[in-house]
Amino acid sequence: MAEYTDIRFPAGFYWGTATSSHQVEGNCTKNDWWVWEQEGGHIREGGVSGIACDHYDRFEEDFALAQGLGHNAHRLSIEWSRIEPEEGQWDMAEVDHYRRVVESLHRHGLTPFVTLHHFTNPLWFRDRGGWLNPQAPDLLARYAGFMAKELGDLVPFWLPINEPLVTVTACYIAGYFPPQRKDMAEAMVVAKHILLAHAKMYQAIKEATTHRPQVGVVLSMSYFEPKNPDSPGDVAMCDAAEALVNQYFLTGIDKGIFPPPVGQGEEAPGVKGTWDLIGLNYYSRTLVSAEMLTKGAYMGEPPPDAELSLMGWEVYPEGIYHLLKRLAQYGPPIFITENGTSTQDEDARCRYVLRHLWQTHRAISEGADVRGYLHWSLTDNFEWAEGWQQWFGMVSMEPGTLDRKPKPLAYLFRDIARANGVTAEQFGKYVG
Ligand code: BGC
Repeated sequence: MAEYTDIRFPAGFYWGTATSSHQVEGNCTKNDWWVWEQEGGHIREGGVSGIACDHYDRFEEDFALAQGLGHNAHRLSIEWSRIEPEEGQWDMAEVDHYRRVVESLHRHGLTPFVTLHHFTNPLWFRDRGGWLNPQAPDLLARYAGFMAKELGDLVPFWLPINEPLVTVTACYIAGYFPPQRKDMAEAMVVAKHILLAHAKMYQAIKEATTHRPQVGVVLSMSYFEPKNPDSPGDVAMCDAAEALVNQYFLTGIDKGIFPPPVGQGEEAPGVKGTWDLIGLNYYSRTLVSAEMLTKGAYMGEPPPDAELSLMGWEVYPEGIYHLLKRLAQYGPPIFITENGTSTQDEDARCRYVLRHLWQTHRAISEGADVRGYLHWSLTDNFEWAEGWQQWFGMVSMEPGTLDRKPKPLAYLFRDIARANGVTAEQFGKYVG
């Protein structure tokens, strides 16, 4: 058990929250998720994103709230299907909308971190084969270049694709996100295309603007361990999960190759070094067993005595420390681009964040160049296949009016952000 002391973060540390268009804006009617939700039967309790948090119309209010809560940064995504509702046709009214959004961030003292693809695809892209289409990387790059040309003067940090390996695994292996495929061969094709798309988007952004933005990856990483370290099957499965989910993009970009299991280490043209920063999304540890393959389970089973979030994910703060230490070996600075928990126990939410900040600070004090912490998320929002049955926000919304109501974490986080550190008393109150 750690002895909690006062900790301080490096000067200029970014504090804020992360969101994504489909989960908060409302009425993203032109993407594949919207249509899939309307089919029924896919989302828990028949949920639909609908008006979501109405952030599309309430962004000013949300950014004012974030500012009042001490934040100095905010991560959001641009909804591709709004910008390019038909192939090759740009909706300039939507471009103006996002310009106002990003201008508002600046007015509220929030440094923008902008993602361009956060799981959702325009319908025309889906109809052209989506990520299986060999032209996918070029289509994404054209969109990225266009956005960087339009907003390059306002956006210092671009994160082209959110969690590329979640698209590979959830959409093409486990099949619980659209297009609900369970096909390993297709997944490998998608993994190739998405790495190339990242690299082409990186180049397109750099070429489209003279404002010298930082462009990077956002990787969802779990801390994988074999359920039974003495079982060769569990160890092999754990190594496989590690290679694909955690390591594929890291090695791919570091060395400019398609690493196994996607390729055999052959050159991935244009990919090497296409990162100025690494974004880490960390939530949990995964104990991997050989049975996961046969059972089709995606997340492993947590240990019996583990503290769980409502997602069923183990609360395992040490994992973020180990992953940060590993990421630090690659060179680019690291940002925590998502971390948070779904719970309705507000003490547990505060405890979760404090314990992850402690482990983050531990990695920093051992040399990891971590420059920011963006909490998932600002408001409770549409949690994909879980619909409205998860609560990740530091702010809740009143049913009906959607009025925002900060939870205890929001005030704790405000004090932490303003002080750029956590006190022993704050740890004592929530972590003990
Ligand atoms: C995603 C978010 C999601 C969060 C919690 C991340 O994988 O980027 O969209 O809401 O995890 O599940």
